[in-house]
Amino acid sequence: MPTEIVLFTRDLRVHDHPALTAAIAASPSVTPLFVLDREILASRYASANRLALLLDALRDLRGALRRRGGDLVVRRGDVGREVALLAGRLGAERVHVSADVSRYARRRTAGLRGIPGVEVVEHEGLTVVPSGSVTTTTGGAYRVFTPYWRRWQTMEPRRPHPAPDRLTLPDDVDPGVIPELAELTDARPAPGRPPGGEDVGRAAAEAFFAADPDPGDRDRPAVDATSRLSLHLHLGTISPTELAVRADPTSAGQGAFVRQLCWREFHVQLLAAEPRLVVDDLRPRGDRWIDDPDGFEAWIEGRTGYPLVDAGMRQLRTEGWMHNRARMVTASFLTKHLRIDWRPGAWHFMDHLVDGDLAVNFGQWQWVAGTGTDPRPNRMLNPTAQSRRHDPQGAYLRRHVPELADVDDDLVHEPWSGGGPGPDGYPAPIVDHGWARGRFLAARGG
Ligand SMILES: Cc1cc2nc3c(=O)[nH]c(=O)nc-3n(C[C@H](O)[C@H](O)[C@H](O)COP(=O)(O)OP(=O)(O)OC[C@H]3O[C@@H](n4cnc5c(N)ncnc54)[C@H](O)[C@@H]3O)c2cc1C
Repeated sequence: MPTEIVLFTRDLRVHDHPALTAAIAASPSVTPLFVLDREILASRYASANRLALLLDALRDLRGALRRRGGDLVVRRGDVGREVALLAGRLGAERVHVSADVSRYARRRTAGLRGIPGVEVVEHEGLTVVPSGSVTTTTGGAYRVFTPYWRRWQTMEPRRPHPAPDRLTLPDDVDPGVIPELAELTDARPAPGRPPGGEDVGRAAAEAFFAADPDPGDRDRPAVDATSRLSLHLHLGTISPTELAVRADPTSAGQGAFVRQLCWREFHVQLLAAEPRLVVDDLRPRGDRWIDDPDGFEAWIEGRTGYPLVDAGMRQLRTEGWMHNRARMVTASFLTKHLRIDWRPGAWHFMDHLVDGDLAVNFGQWQWVAGTGTDPRPNRMLNPTAQSRRHDPQGAYLRRHVPELADVDDDLVHEPWSGGGPGPDGYPAPIVDHGWARGRFLAARGG
């Protein structure tokens, strides 16, 4: 019987992997393949943080497949060409792949379909509810979250697939080498970047469910009350279906978590319908963005003089991750206080985020900028008020902005108003909130 090829992409796990299960059911011989894609490696998308996680995940996946009698075949180059070469050499007639929605992923699948004599079978695996299976009454994608969430909840998730016990690789296949990070990039990952891979992802999920944090703490950046599973969901080192099925519906915290999974899928179905989400305003508001390299630099470096903005931007640099509340405040500050275009901001996030994801990152940036799906596009977050409300003791601020370590609780949220630089050289605010608010509302005709 010919071997079945499973092309892994961003579904780097053995548990609940429908494509892998189907291949094993079809033939006693299975060839798991990962291609380090030349096109992705050459793009801005290939940041050091996400490459480091990818390599963690590949090593882990190879270990899991070897323990089951198989291996992960690793190649580097053009995906279509590598699949064609391997299929030709092994006499494979079928390649299994998890369906994905970005323009690039669809082009990749279309390329596979062009390989003569090879059938391409797409499987679920990226989302709990397959993208495109929940549509509006007119058959389109949802652009408002709440009705999508209502429909999404009525869909019964499929049953998670167990990890396979055994699999057999054809003889004489060169498994190939998983490279070191330095072979792929000169850049260094963030010092505090989390580790990746399926084992770590599964352990993190278990820890989250066991801790069962209070949903009221979700918005508090100083508290570790969210799952931190975003990087695993992005690379598929954990299955969203397994998480959704595992979540206890009687726990408020786990219910809130499932709602976040739905937010992710809301953006996935939006990107599927609107590939221009990463490039163009979804809902143009007539914005005239300001070219302000100094403001952009201060924002990147966490030196805007607004403690919550600076704490978030510094957390991004040191951990490759930022708390959701801080992501909202920092993105709002760039687009609404400084009036700098959301595109460079979103790409800066992509350069650093361990979970940087086309659908979610660009969807959320447009949401915050008011050019996307937020039904209240002209809301403007006040960083000082947000800080007082969500980090009342200033613990998050002090953790990431050491200049503020000795500032009183009451003053720590405020931009410095004493003239000149503040404590330990902490900068004075680069823009006045009230003035920026007036400018923004006037620009939006509010
Ligand atoms: C400007 C901006 C950019 C963002 N960029 C990304 C990104 O590139 N990748 C990314 O995964 N998330 C992004 N988010 C969403 C959110 O901030 C992160 O998913 C979350 O902070 C990850 O932490 P967690 O895993 O502990 O989340 P939890 O609260 O535990 O949520 C569980 C999972 O749900 C998903 N999720 C959570 N919040 C959101 C949300 N608002 N929208 C969509 N999905 C969500 C994530 O997959 C997350 O892992 C962005 C948010 C903003 C405001």
